[in-house]
Amino acid sequence: MIRVGVVGAAGRMGREVCRSVAADPELELVAAVDRSPGEPIEGEPRTLSLDEFADDDGRLVERAMQVAIDFTHPDVVLGNVRWFLDHGVHSVVGTTGITPEGLDEIRAIAEAGPANVVVAPNFAIGAVLMMRFAAEASRFLPDAEIVELHHAAKADAPSGTAMATARRMAASRGAARAARGEERVPGARGADVEGVHIHSVRLPGLVAHQAVILGGQGQTLTIRHDSVDRTSFMPGVLMAVKAVASLPGLTVGLDALLEEA
Ligand code: NAD
Repeated sequence: MIRVGVVGAAGRMGREVCRSVAADPELELVAAVDRSPGEPIEGEPRTLSLDEFADDDGRLVERAMQVAIDFTHPDVVLGNVRWFLDHGVHSVVGTTGITPEGLDEIRAIAEAGPANVVVAPNFAIGAVLMMRFAAEASRFLPDAEIVELHHAAKADAPSGTAMATARRMAASRGAARAARGEERVPGARGADVEGVHIHSVRLPGLVAHQAVILGGQGQTLTIRHDSVDRTSFMPGVLMAVKAVASLPGLTVGLDALLEEA
């Protein structure tokens, strides 16, 4: 049994993750951690703050988590990961918004210590494949734009998935493409990430969706993925939790795990 703590446990993703961990016979849910101590989450261990979870010497209490799963907020995730690394706890991080510099810092600390980290902007297998197919397609169709659509409460834009997709497409495409045309209203052409324009839609009723539209002579190719509910992320999260102890240092994206599955 792997002892697992969920950080951000009271959130939309955190609640689903708690349910999935509790239902998995190979995993034991030992802590559901959220920002402020409060009422217990129904059917789950009580909520704790991260500091409350350490003993007086700052070490984790007995039966502490071996793997932490973080679905919190872009503003706090880096601090949380530093905490996991300082306490020798492996982590699986779904929170988006970690900068390339933040990833470099995590990589350096993880490579120097005993705890490993998996960071993935999207744990849905279909979204991972969508990113892979988009990178492959951009080799042949270098003109492409991304439309990502999420629920109205999403904290960051563009989405981490869209940013990762754009970077992968730019890397496989070679020379960056120039944006054409003048913006009559600032933002009309979306965000330019390494030459790939990203358009972020935020509406109630949506979960997480992305279309990559590639254009060529007399044709377009659209690669689209839809997460229609949050259970779509759970098989990927559980896969990462079970693999993280054997993945030294920092692993970014689910691709490395899919190759081994
Ligand atoms: P949410 O706002 O519903 O939940 C976030 C929770 O984190 C809240 O309960 C909040 O109280 C808690 N929190 C904030 N700061 C904290 C701290 N310092 N310590 C402990 N808990 C803290 O958000 P959500 O919709 O669940 O999304 C969470 C994150 O996951 C976002 O960054 C989102 O983009 C990302 N996300 C990733 C994937 C993926 O597959 N990687 C999928 C969906 C969402």
